[in-house]
Amino acid sequence: MQLTLWTYEGPPHVGAMRIAASMEGVHYVLHAPQGDTYADLLFTMIERRDQRPPVTYTTFQARDLGGDTAELVKRHVREAVDRFQPDALLVGESCTAELIQDQAGALANSMGLGMPVVNLELPAYSKKENWGAAETFYQLVRTLLKDHAPAELTHDPKAWQQQGRRPRVNLLGPSLLGFRCRDDVLEVQRLLGIHGIDVGVVAPLGATVADVLRLPEADLNVCLYPEIAESSCAWLERSFGIPFTSNVPIGIGATQDFLVEVHNLLGMTPPSPQAGIRQSRLPWYSESVDSTYLTGKRVFIFGDGTHALAAARICKDELGFEVVGLGTYSREMARPVRAAAKAMGLEALISDDYLEVEAAMAAAAPELVLGTQMERHSAKRLGLPCAVISTPMHVQDVPARNSPQMGWEGANVIFDSWVHPLMMGLEEHLIGMFRHDFEFVDGHQSHLGHAGGSGAGAETDVAVSTLNDELVWTADGEAELKKIPFFVRGKVRRNTETFAKSTGRNQIDSETLYDAKAHFSA
Ligand code: SF4
Repeated sequence: MQLTLWTYEGPPHVGAMRIAASMEGVHYVLHAPQGDTYADLLFTMIERRDQRPPVTYTTFQARDLGGDTAELVKRHVREAVDRFQPDALLVGESCTAELIQDQAGALANSMGLGMPVVNLELPAYSKKENWGAAETFYQLVRTLLKDHAPAELTHDPKAWQQQGRRPRVNLLGPSLLGFRCRDDVLEVQRLLGIHGIDVGVVAPLGATVADVLRLPEADLNVCLYPEIAESSCAWLERSFGIPFTSNVPIGIGATQDFLVEVHNLLGMTPPSPQAGIRQSRLPWYSESVDSTYLTGKRVFIFGDGTHALAAARICKDELGFEVVGLGTYSREMARPVRAAAKAMGLEALISDDYLEVEAAMAAAAPELVLGTQMERHSAKRLGLPCAVISTPMHVQDVPARNSPQMGWEGANVIFDSWVHPLMMGLEEHLIGMFRHDFEFVDGHQSHLGHAGGSGAGAETDVAVSTLNDELVWTADGEAELKKIPFFVRGKVRRNTETFAKSTGRNQIDSETLYDAKAHFSA
């Protein structure tokens, strides 16, 4: 048992629903107790879809358990097929149904339905949503294409040159309830189009069964979201010889690396870095003098593996921030996240316990948090500025306006949304100089249009726990601490307490504070 209040991912059948709902002509029969239809709301409210997800629930109740629940599954499968007439059927179980072991998928497979049936085995007690989505997409691709795999792998990603056509790639991984997938697809399509590369199939988002059958016609697979599509890309490589990309184009450097990788795999001449960099405003905005005050800002990053890794690189190489914490809840991505953290002199936080993440965030005393919806809540409690970079998300992260994360325009969106929560440079400077203004008080961020700002001074002090209950701050020590600008005050408090402990002092006055400052800057 694990006491859980918030969870970063849903159960794996929600991942399967994401695949079914993202596609057209695919229906999902889900053996699940009454009440599991709650997941419909994720699509109709958060994604604001104008239709119910293509899911038929068996919605069994307590009284059904005394009867024949297997017959209930069969009835729902028959009704769903008659009513929706899908091109392919997914059949699986939710957590509770997994316990009663009706083998829903095997039952449906034995019914002679005359269409591809994918039997989903998603272990709800050991795996989660993204794994469920990846497994569902993989099983669907495999079921539809396994009989089409060639006996010998002869695929040549450069064959388009002889065939006198433009190169063609598939975009794999975008799905509903993914982070900004809708606009990432448009941006990557535009980006590839500029370089004369066509997009064949986008899947699962918007794909039909016929589209999946066309996947082998592409020269190359672009794996946009490894959490969802890596297993399918690897299978297509093994079975059809189609290579796939490993760079995810989020950020300037990553977009450039992605373009170079795609060009090389397709046998084209890669674009120069300078040509690409001019396509986005981020490099100039970040170099322009107004961004000087961003240098060295301490940032704590947490999210799914792909977005956390991308954010770390952007922070370090493109915005001049200092990454003081990096972690993910995606256990599947623990390895690369650990490696990236190590390269920055950090130990990665691999956890799906938001309280552990919140504690790590408080201990790192950052000036900015880049995280999920959960970190937004934690950062609010700690009085820290925050921007959302990854799922889980709320409805405000499925905006009406175009807001990709990928490609050149994605970098523009990222620059704006990550800098926005920080205090503007002039205000930061003035608050440091004049502490007694009746309006622009300590922690105030007037550009956010409210009196307290997301980082009001009193709240900020909550961010920093006293290391040792025996340590006492004298009034004079506290007064001196208050003179430190609020966004670095957490770090100063923590350093001073560490210093006091290590030198055997139990009272912290202004002198201790300056001794600590001298000690840490020595
Ligand atoms: S079956 Fe799973 S998802 Fe459905 S209500 Fe029970 S625990 Fe939640």
